Amino acid sequence: MVVKSVSVKAVLISAMLLSPWLSAAANAAEPTDEQRTAHYFDSIRNSPVALEMFLHAMPKGGDLHNHIDGAIYAESFITWAVKDGLCLTMATMSLSPPPCAAPAVRVADAVSNSETYAKLVDALSMRDFHATTESGHDHFFATFGKFGAASAHHRADMLVEVARRAAAQNILYLELMTSPGMNKARDIGREIPWPDNASFAPAYDATMAEMAPLVAEVRATLDQNEADMHATLGCGTPHAEPACAVTIRYLAQVIRTFPPQQVFAQDVLAYELASKDKRVVGLNLVAPEDDPVTLRDYTVQMQQLQYLGARYPTVKLTLHAGELAMGLVPPGDLDFHIKQAVEIAGAKRVGHAVDIAHEQDASGLLVEMAARHIMVEINLTSNDVILGVTGPEHPFMTYRRYGVPVALSTDDEGVSRIDMTHEYVRVVHDFGLSYEELKTLERNSLEYSFLSGASIWQTATPYTLVTACAGGVAKPKPACDDLIAGSDRAAVQWKNEQALAAFEAHTK
Ligand SMILES: [Zn+2]
Repeated sequence: MVVKSVSVKAVLISAMLLSPWLSAAANAAEPTDEQRTAHYFDSIRNSPVALEMFLHAMPKGGDLHNHIDGAIYAESFITWAVKDGLCLTMATMSLSPPPCAAPAVRVADAVSNSETYAKLVDALSMRDFHATTESGHDHFFATFGKFGAASAHHRADMLVEVARRAAAQNILYLELMTSPGMNKARDIGREIPWPDNASFAPAYDATMAEMAPLVAEVRATLDQNEADMHATLGCGTPHAEPACAVTIRYLAQVIRTFPPQQVFAQDVLAYELASKDKRVVGLNLVAPEDDPVTLRDYTVQMQQLQYLGARYPTVKLTLHAGELAMGLVPPGDLDFHIKQAVEIAGAKRVGHAVDIAHEQDASGLLVEMAARHIMVEINLTSNDVILGVTGPEHPFMTYRRYGVPVALSTDDEGVSRIDMTHEYVRVVHDFGLSYEELKTLERNSLEYSFLSGASIWQTATPYTLVTACAGGVAKPKPACDDLIAGSDRAAVQWKNEQALAAFEAHTK
């Protein structure tokens, strides 16, 4: 991407001409590919176009916080809505299934007017959003209800879109949050007697009695969606798209704005899926954290997860916690969510965690998170557009100072009109990270993923390869091949290291 500096070349040529001794000395001082890449990065960090190109090409590990519904761009939903004959209610800009009864009109008719098309894209995303009568928070979360009807029959198309976008940016791994079966789980939960004490066992037994068919149905749905995705991408054929190489796993996504027994039934489905299907690597609770039901039931939801976590000790949990800001909720709701997610629910990772400064004994919690290697999924643009938290107001650097692992993620790249490269550009602009620090972020995104199997790293501070792989990608050893063959995590990590080595070799 950049030509090695003329002065270094000149020195080397002069040295070779002068004497063998000088030549050897110059070779000894030859910078490594990584050092050259870091030097180049420093030279272009204030040049927006060159920086975008660099970060687009840079391997970026994984995206651990990605809601697939929010990852889809509005234009795709509109295309599918037209194809499926969906309807549009102009007053709310909401899509709905046919038949189109007044005042709803056919989307195909409505968007033939380019002004309406543009207004619909804006309504289904944060494009051109300016807070007037509606806040960024409200507009953002309202989009999901508006485009929901267009997603129902396009789950495979949605996978294709996110996999292609990931491959185009050299992202190797996606941990996608998705909710198949959760509406039926809520139906089961509605009928379950809810205890007025802290014993969840009877509710668990009652829920489980009806869960097996739903688990099977969801697994069959995943099978079908993946088969359709692979067919579209040509995976396994000579014309396979690069997106076929993106490893995709799922986090079962529990909608937490429902009564306790319905959240609990969704939790049970999530734990069952994660314990029975290798593709479902964990679970997360989603929907606005400031919703009155979430605020009312936050602690009991953490206790439910604590109970189920004990029943399913191998299932991994990540939680939206602390996606709040002063003014959005009363101060009493700002001071315990992250702590309870970590200490009661047993979350291995936390998403957002923006309000950390308001937690009781925030410093003690940060020390605890660092000691327990609780990673924070950082969503810079999302926090900006939803909460108005940006730049130095964001706790990103605080987490780093305390040694809490962090990784960048997109949250809802379609709604926010961004991609992962955008988030890397943003972190360089806002926090001035070095190339080595960016590499730590991307390695974190695989090391703290919920992929199964051993890691290629013996320590993450600093990243140091296990003995079996100590030669690195330049000198692979048979023992390392064995590790990679037996571990999903190691396989993706190794591919990322190979991609990094190729990127750094090219960037000089
Ligand atoms: Zn999220």
